[in-house]
Amino acid sequence: MYRILQLDKAGNPTAWLTRRQAIILTASDRIIANLGQSEMVFRGGYNRALGKRSEIVVGSILLTRQRVDKRRHSKHFEPPLTNRALFARDGQVCMYCGESFADSQLTRDHVIPLSKAGPDTWSNCVTACARCNHSKGNHTPEEWGRLLLAVPFKPNWSEFLYLKNHRQIVADQQQFLQVRFPDNSRLLLS
Ligand SMILES: [Zn+2]
Repeated sequence: MYRILQLDKAGNPTAWLTRRQAIILTASDRIIANLGQSEMVFRGGYNRALGKRSEIVVGSILLTRQRVDKRRHSKHFEPPLTNRALFARDGQVCMYCGESFADSQLTRDHVIPLSKAGPDTWSNCVTACARCNHSKGNHTPEEWGRLLLAVPFKPNWSEFLYLKNHRQIVADQQQFLQVRFPDNSRLLLS
């Protein structure tokens, strides 16, 4: 069962909703329109007066009455850094040895180590396998003598939403987010 993409009232993507959250928004008249191409139908209790079960239809991309949060769309905004989204950004590939791994075998490496005042940000973090991370230790890639396979980047909000949920995303949601990626987005190449 896929998640539902929530848009604020200006049409900016803001979050992924669970089925339950989407049903509540729909039932409380917080939805302006479904901009998606798919719908899910949820059946509620039996309505005696109408002689049928109640139904709530929830679209895949919901334009809601949510207020616009300009902060989130500023160039300086840093989306939350989670390992899951970080590993997705790097395609589950260790940025030092280039091999693919499952999430459980991957780690967050600070390119400039925390011990050398490197920040815990998207631009200073890459996916690394446990072995490379251990071997790199408290060194920069230069000190360790290895190069990064790709320069780490901070996703914009649409890229971040995609990374958070790319395994369960449906086609119309993916298209909606992709047109909001930066022109040179690495996620468009992968
Ligand atoms: Zn590695």
